[in-house]
Amino acid sequence: MITILGAGLAGLSCSYYLGHDNCIVFERNAHAGGHIHSQQRNGVVWDEGPHISFTRNPYVRELFEQSVQGDVREIPVRVGNYYHGHWIPHPAQSNLCAVPEPLRTECLDAFLATRRSAEEPHAPANYQQWLDQAFGPTFAARFPRAYTEKYWTVPPEALATDWVGQRVYYPDEDTVIQGYHGPQDRSTHYIRTARYPSRGGYRAFASALLEGAPVRLQTAVIGIDLRRREIQLADGTVHPYQQLINTLPLPEFVRMIPTAPPRVQEAADALQCSSLLLVNITARNVATHPFHWFYVYDRDKFATRVHHVDRLSPHNAPAGTTGVQVEVYASRARPFTRSHEAIAATVVRELIEMGVIEHCDSVHTQFIPWANVIFDHARREAQDTILSWLADQGLAREPDDLEPMTDWDQALPSPRGSIALAGRFAQWKYFWTDDCVLRGRQLAGLPTRTAGG
Ligand SMILES: Cc1cc2nc3c(=O)[nH]c(=O)nc-3n(C[C@H](O)[C@H](O)[C@H](O)COP(=O)(O)OP(=O)(O)OC[C@H]3O[C@@H](n4cnc5c(N)ncnc54)[C@H](O)[C@@H]3O)c2cc1C
Repeated sequence: MITILGAGLAGLSCSYYLGHDNCIVFERNAHAGGHIHSQQRNGVVWDEGPHISFTRNPYVRELFEQSVQGDVREIPVRVGNYYHGHWIPHPAQSNLCAVPEPLRTECLDAFLATRRSAEEPHAPANYQQWLDQAFGPTFAARFPRAYTEKYWTVPPEALATDWVGQRVYYPDEDTVIQGYHGPQDRSTHYIRTARYPSRGGYRAFASALLEGAPVRLQTAVIGIDLRRREIQLADGTVHPYQQLINTLPLPEFVRMIPTAPPRVQEAADALQCSSLLLVNITARNVATHPFHWFYVYDRDKFATRVHHVDRLSPHNAPAGTTGVQVEVYASRARPFTRSHEAIAATVVRELIEMGVIEHCDSVHTQFIPWANVIFDHARREAQDTILSWLADQGLAREPDDLEPMTDWDQALPSPRGSIALAGRFAQWKYFWTDDCVLRGRQLAGLPTRTAGG
């Protein structure tokens, strides 16, 4: 019997591919799904933050499609930016024509000076240097630096660059020059179309995994005895295991193991993650901007990313109503200094100022303690300390276990060990939902490659 901690997408996928009959899953919440849970409130379907699928992986596409019996919306996504009263199509660096002067020309000049510099570019030592090289210092300071401080909650100097990969757009010269002179005739965003269930919110994509899943809900794990191979549950019972798959956040997992030495506990404390306050607002649909979601660069606004749930599917809200979900981030490095209610009230005023709503019919908040792993300079060494110690307790180390992303097109053997980690927070990776599904396939020894195989 395989014991799985946590019934988010990673836990459900492991159970599904390893065989629900061979597994038991312990879940703290009264529902399964973790971060992909969707709930209905005030007549609107709210996901836990904007969730869309842009995977090219055929296994994941097929699984999600099967979950909703093919009733999938294929959305040509329109993404925007809000900058001090100006609406700019995304990515802003290749749409400089919408940036006000003189900033527009200053951004282009600094970009061209950087790209055409005779100096050999050096390997960036931090994300700020990466941004300067990619965009030139003027654009970098006004746009991604401001956004990084809001979204990642730390200045870009505090971040390493190992997570950037395909996640941040790297513009070419011709595209930036073209976008300076006038609107682009094509989308230059790396996400062009996205998939979303017609009904039921993003969670509907997990229906196939959930069917028959052996999940014990409202059963929190509170302790782990690696020597005796036992799990302590909040209801006072002890559950013995032979094989353990953890999908709980790695720092929490370590803190539950009393035999973890102080240096490993310290390493767990060094791992940083952001938390997320979702401000969910229903209002009469008046928004004049065309975007599914947009990024807000103004430092004086809480709103960081804003999306309209009804634009992902019209079944997400009654006709004439829009559901606006606003993300506001905090972390140990930058904690909230105001109550959730006070932040929500301010966010409503910000949306009115931006012209997104005229007034608010209802507002509620939802706090998500674990949102984005912060890939700072301490992360790799701290994670290595934890994984090396866990390796002595039964975890099989993997060649890429310190990399923020997994390359699913590599031949990836299933790690052999009595303990395995799966999912965004257990593996401490920059994982999206497709990665969590594919990790389940990998642990079951099934192929993961996009190109067949
Ligand atoms: C704001 C936001 C937007 C995102 N947008 C997208 C997107 O557009 N597309 C995309 O593909 N991905 C997106 N993602 C990423 C995606 O949500 C995650 O990769 C994925 O859902 C993580 O699943 P998981 O199973 O690894 O973790 P979780 O979903 O966190 O699952 C872990 C489970 O463990 C349970 N648990 C925790 N502690 C205990 C305990 N002590 N005992 C028992 N159970 C416990 C939790 O309740 C949870 O159910 C987004 C993430 C965020 C935060």
